[in-house]
Amino acid sequence: MECPLLKTCNFFQDKMENMPATAGIMKKRYCLKDNSKCARFMVASTLGREKVPADLFPNQHDKAANLINNNG
Ligand code: SF4
Repeated sequence: MECPLLKTCNFFQDKMENMPATAGIMKKRYCLKDNSKCARFMVASTLGREKVPADLFPNQHDKAANLINNNG
């Protein structure tokens, strides 16, 4: 299932700095398939989109979990 945030997500839209070489793979894995495993989506869905750090990548689950635990 496609992530509902695709159109406005800075990661999917290639608007983040230092996009990793694996960005294409991550888009397939998270954005186009299973957003429930995406660190950005985890933060957006629990704390709100405005709380998603500008530099958070979809595979940074520990960082997302820390943010959620400290803000939730
Ligand atoms: S899965 Fe994550 S990175 Fe992809 S569009 Fe959704 S919030 Fe953005």
